[in-house]
This record gives sequence, structure tokens and C-alpha cells, in this order.
Amino acid sequence: MALCDQSLPYVRAISPYQPGKPITQLAREMGLPVDSIVKLASNENPLGMSPKAEAAMEKAIATLERYPDDFELKNALANHCGLGMERIVLGNGSNDVLDMIARVFLAPGRSAVFSQHAFAVYPLASLSAGAELIAVPAKDFGHDLEAMRNAIRPNTRLIWIANPNNPTGTFLPFRQLKTFMQEVPEDVVVVLDEAYNEYIPPAERVDTSTWLAEFPNLVITRTFSKIYGLAGLRIGYALASVEIADLMNRVRQPFNCNNLALAAATAALDDHEFVARSYALNRAGMEQIVSGITCFGFSHIPSHGNFITIKVGDAAALNQKLLKQGVIVRPIAGYGMPEWLRVTIGTEADNQRFLEALENAQQRTV
Ligand SMILES: *Cc1c(COP(=O)(O)O)cnc(C)c1O
Repeated sequence: MALCDQSLPYVRAISPYQPGKPITQLAREMGLPVDSIVKLASNENPLGMSPKAEAAMEKAIATLERYPDDFELKNALANHCGLGMERIVLGNGSNDVLDMIARVFLAPGRSAVFSQHAFAVYPLASLSAGAELIAVPAKDFGHDLEAMRNAIRPNTRLIWIANPNNPTGTFLPFRQLKTFMQEVPEDVVVVLDEAYNEYIPPAERVDTSTWLAEFPNLVITRTFSKIYGLAGLRIGYALASVEIADLMNRVRQPFNCNNLALAAATAALDDHEFVARSYALNRAGMEQIVSGITCFGFSHIPSHGNFITIKVGDAAALNQKLLKQGVIVRPIAGYGMPEWLRVTIGTEADNQRFLEALENAQQRTV
């Protein structure tokens, strides 16, 4: 039998993650200068990173011969979240903590529930652990919590929820989520992925970390990749019960977060000015793009994240026309939405470039 036929069948069944096209790759493919390209494809922060994070990282360069010490960041997060350090698990990006949770609770013979059009890492993490996936049809492109609760089977050990969700930007009011937590069996883990939490308007936001005392089966994940602008450093975290955090730390690779990422994240957490500026830029950019696309006659899903998902019809063809003009957005056919494009909110100038490229594409001038 061929060597690769000996691999685990559930690994062979995984479809690989499709990342947003890197700027350098489009530059090579189209022969365009790198700095002429606008990338609005991976929900990255258009302001870059906090200057405080950058300064902290420069200082941390002097420590690179040493293995990392994650005390400072855990301590800062404990203060930030009002929880003990023993409830915090650090990850090489929050994808890493999602994977740890799956490895702690999932295996062949067990199942995980997730929503149609939800984040691609949930199926990846679940299938890598050998579990069966139960995909629940979305309601208005968002999670249908009642249907998700009804989808729980005796062998279900985990439920994935993204709030707000990527790639749809949909948002579940916290009151609904809390009711859901009260109804889910206590022996089923609920992972609440809050990668875009900081983009929710303060009036609508609830600090779910206060729920951990009431729901020992809740695991909250957050990241430094989005509003904190540190996607390339790979740093995120989970908040959980002391017992779950302990189990996750057993499967965590020792030293999974590097010195530069730890230093940058600790400083970024403290840079409230940068977070406020990123939030404000996102609000303004969201308005700019919504009014632009509405003018062109496109519909969209109202978004609570730093991106917007737009119905364009033949998204593959439109995407090609945008790429030719040096504008990278994200086709989401892989999420079962072949008629939609997801566009990250950029700077005012980036958004303008996108809208112009969209207009050109409509007029068939490209
Ligand atoms: C971007 C994103 C993350 C963050 O991933 P990192 O590994 O922290 O970069 C997590 N969940 C969702 C839904 C996301 O969109």
C-alpha cells in the first residue's frame, strides 16, 4: 500500500485552509510594484501596530537567545480581564488555542457542532482531532442558536461559536448567548471565539469573562491579530476554568509564544489610545464602504467586525478584475458563499481604491 494511504483517513479528508493572497504574491503574478497593491483580504489592522508594541519588541530583541517567559503577558491579561493567571492559556495566534481545545475534548467517535458559514478553523481543528462535524444551517447568515442546541448529540463534546462571526460579520446579542449557555448541557464545552470583540460598539458589548464563574464549560478565545495589529507575530489567548486551562496547557507546545510576540502583546494591551484610534478608523471606514457599495447597488450583510461581506454575483470573475487593479479582497466560495466577497475595512485611501476598482470592474473597463 502506498505510504500516504497509511495516513489517517480523517486527515486526508481535510480541505486545506485558503489564506488571503499575500501582497508579494500578487506583485509577482501581475508584475505590479508591491507598494501599489492594496490588501483588504485578511482583516488586518490598516494602522499597523501600536508604537508601544514596536518599542517593546525592539527591546525584546536583546533576549532572543533565551527561551520565553510568559509571566508578564499572563499577568497583564489577568489584570485586563479581572481573572486569575491560572485561567489564561496563551497561543501562537488564537488558532493555536482553538486547536488545543479540540485536542483536549475531541477524538474519533465524538462530534462538534458549528454553524454553516462559520470560521474555517473550526472544521480544521475538529477534523484534525478525528471528530465528526455537525454543521447547522445558518439563520440570516449568522448562528442559529436554537438549531445548534437541538443539533447536540450524545457524543457531542464541543460547540464552536464566533461572535462576531467571520466571514459574515454577524453578531449574537449577549442576552441570547447567555440563554444558550444556560441551556447547553454542562458536559459540552462551548468555545466562544471573540476575535473581533473590540470592534463591537461599547454600548452593545458585554464582558463575557464574567460568565466563567457561572459556566465552567465556557472557553473564551481572543486575539492580538485584529484590533491590536499583531497578526504576523501570532499571539492570542483563551480564558477558561482553571481545570480546562490546565488540560489545554498539557497539550500546548512548551514555548509556543515567542519573546517578541509576548513583549509586543503586553505593551499593546496597554495602548488604549491605539485601540481607540483603530476602532474609530474602522467605524468611519465601514460607513465609507457601505455608502459606496450601496450607491453601486450592492447589498451586504451588516457587520460587527473590521470587514464587510458584499453580494456581488459572480464573485470569482469580479475578484479577478479587482486583482488586475492591484486590489486584494477575499472570495468566500470555500465558506459556501460563491456570490460574495469579504472586504476588510482599510484606511480611507485603501477604501477609496477598493471602491474605484469596484466601479471600474462594473463598467467593464478592466
Ligand atoms: C482572525 C480570526 C481569529 C484569529 O486568528 P489568530 O490565529 O489569532 O490570528 C480567530 N477567530 C476568528 C473568527 C477570526 O476571524
